[in-house]
Amino acid sequence: MNVSDERLLRIDEVIEPLRVKPGSKVHLPGDFDPAFKTAGLKKKRGVELLDEGITLLAEYQDRLAAQSSEGVLVVLQALDAAGKDGTIRHVMTGVNPQGVAVQGFKVPSDEELSHNFLWRYVSALPKRGQIAIFNRSYYEEVLVVRVHPDLLARQRLPGAGHGDGDVWAARYRDINAFERHLTDNGFRIVKLFLNISKEEQRRRFLRRIDLAEKNWKFSGHDVAERRHWDEYQHAFAAMLSHTSTEHAPRYVIPADRKWFERLAAAAVLVKTLADIDPQYPAVSEKARRDLLTAKTELEQQAAPGVPADPFAAEVAAASGTTGK
Ligand code: AMP
Ligand code: MG
Repeated sequence: MNVSDERLLRIDEVIEPLRVKPGSKVHLPGDFDPAFKTAGLKKKRGVELLDEGITLLAEYQDRLAAQSSEGVLVVLQALDAAGKDGTIRHVMTGVNPQGVAVQGFKVPSDEELSHNFLWRYVSALPKRGQIAIFNRSYYEEVLVVRVHPDLLARQRLPGAGHGDGDVWAARYRDINAFERHLTDNGFRIVKLFLNISKEEQRRRFLRRIDLAEKNWKFSGHDVAERRHWDEYQHAFAAMLSHTSTEHAPRYVIPADRKWFERLAAAAVLVKTLADIDPQYPAVSEKARRDLLTAKTELEQQAAPGVPADPFAAEVAAASGTTGK
């Protein structure tokens, strides 16, 4: 596809400030502003750009599926009300549902707790040609599980792994190795942390309480988790510091403005697909000959007065000849 260099440069401009430099030490909330947006960009233009991004995504996804050699895993992490569901809904509209799988991860079952911590995520990985979206992911294993030691205790880790300080270092190492394995095997990972401010979360919770049709989105558990805000910020900062790598960089998506959040998330995904630059498979000489044989047979079946090939003029126009 011909995404102009200029267009890609613009995408780079949007996403570069959001990338966590591998090896850097991140502090939250100081290092990333949840209300950030590209300088000079207004909402109206942002929404137009998102539309363009969505069109591009649909085209790329079609090629990704046709090429069927690489896949994409989108990993969404965020605190409650940061816009995970809305981002998935808006960014993936226009994409063929057959090529996308969305998988949410909730409190693990007994069966899941009976396995190693990466087990339940492996079976939901994308196939070649697919995009899989994880709504929460294996990163919960260094987030909610870090904030709530009783969750770690339920995992029944032997010896040192059981609540030992090193358990997090070991998990970052395992996650980085797991992602390395995926990228080496042809799967790109788009890691998005939707970064909402404490005040914006308060507002969105209140909205969910005040508006009857939003009540279902709210649970008392959400305010209970909010009481651990600082511990979560610390866990997110440690996650960002240790798991943004060259092979799978991490992006912090400012979440206080929904329009910019969606645009930024789409931009990272478009950039990833542009890097893959998937191509429709070339048709072999033999397959081409078979197509032409089938074409002749079909043309011979045209009823009197019906054009042999109703698309001939269109094809000729597309290839630059007049067709006459
Ligand atoms: P939600 O996505 O808001 O519907 O809620 C899912 C809940 O599952 C959240 O409270 C998460 O913290 C929790 N959860 C997700 N993954 C894990 C995990 N690995 N261990 C414990 N809790 C988890
Ligand atoms: Mg929730």
